[in-house]
Amino acid sequence: MIADKISLSQQNIELENKYGAHNYHPLPVVLKRGEGVYVWDVAGKRYYDFLSAYSAINQGHCHPKITEALIEQANTLALTSRAFYNNVLGKYEQYVTKYFGFDKVLPMNTGAEAVETAIKLCRKYAYEKNNIPENKATIIVCEGNFHGRTTTIISFSNDPEARKNFGPFTPGFIKIPYNDLNALRDALEQTPNIAGFLVEPIQGEAGVFVPDEGYLKSAKALCEKHNTLFIADEVQTGIARTGKLLAVDHENVKPDILILGKALSGGAYPVSAVLANDAIMMVIKPGQHGSTFGGNPIAAKVAIAALDVIKDEKLAQNAEELGQLFRNEINDFIKTNPLIKLVRGKGLLNAIVINDVETSETAWNICVQLKENGLLAKPTHGNIIRFAPPLVITKEQLLDCMAIIKKTISNYKM
Ligand SMILES: *Cc1c(COP(=O)(O)O)cnc(C)c1O
Repeated sequence: MIADKISLSQQNIELENKYGAHNYHPLPVVLKRGEGVYVWDVAGKRYYDFLSAYSAINQGHCHPKITEALIEQANTLALTSRAFYNNVLGKYEQYVTKYFGFDKVLPMNTGAEAVETAIKLCRKYAYEKNNIPENKATIIVCEGNFHGRTTTIISFSNDPEARKNFGPFTPGFIKIPYNDLNALRDALEQTPNIAGFLVEPIQGEAGVFVPDEGYLKSAKALCEKHNTLFIADEVQTGIARTGKLLAVDHENVKPDILILGKALSGGAYPVSAVLANDAIMMVIKPGQHGSTFGGNPIAAKVAIAALDVIKDEKLAQNAEELGQLFRNEINDFIKTNPLIKLVRGKGLLNAIVINDVETSETAWNICVQLKENGLLAKPTHGNIIRFAPPLVITKEQLLDCMAIIKKTISNYKM
């Protein structure tokens, strides 16, 4: 019986290995069902999901309100393309712009597409409203950034894995260190034709790097002084993950361009968005940008439901409170266990840094043990484990998870 179940996992893994491109290295677990904070594998074993599909599942797996919206709209009208109007998109556009406080939204599907959209918007605005000479616009980005996987986006990544042999790259970007206001000031003062500053309010993929308090506010002020657009990529940090609706809300910063994705649909469907006020968004005219699926009726209905859930269930507040609890518990635990160097994060976007050389497999091996003990997490760059459960997690469930994490690390043998 057990052997059958193991082989069922193995069969699925082998199918992916044989027929799928090898562009991921998943933990060896084959999932079959999800509900709230839980997922189940093909053998029926239950796990806490501490990745939440990279923060796409903030509202929990298969949230009934989101699923219902999806099914109902799928049975009514799925896709019109933007060649015609539909009776859902306008309502969604009104809803999402009021929700985040911008004049306009440009709907896309994936995070990378939304980042591409923001880059195009920023450049066009620079040429048409800021007198930057054609083809000279430069966007400042940060070292260690993650903004997606398109050819242009990897052009300004500094992850060798993401770039190697994918060139030639798109010009028009300069990199500065993250969390370094002097570097930003120098770049703004010394580089001609700066059009924008593209930044993650917390660098998620890089290992949950939280900048110093005041960084975002001062960076925004510097951009304003130099008449440069401040573009916040909140694809991972947005939508209640860090304990506020947006991570920039911790410093009361309003970006000129806001990029959203992932939890905008609660994971049910690919939905992303770029938000900006009229002065910026209206530089794009018919025929200049688009997407066949962007703004489709299912996406629109799903996003409204997903954003309703965030407010109805007070998920930002829950992330704030339980995030504190998580970091307090780990900080207490660190005093007794030298395997963890530190914990950092905001709300329920946290990471622990393993006390070992960066190249070792310790973080991976701990994640494999966590899986055995019923909790799924994934190492990120360096020897770091990110912990980002669905925001619907309760205090009782989180304490149960803390026990699993502490037990696993205590029993871990190097
Ligand atoms: C995941 C992510 C993206 C890319 O989103 P995709 O939907 O995978 O294209 C962009 N920016 C940030 C900060 C992300 O975390």
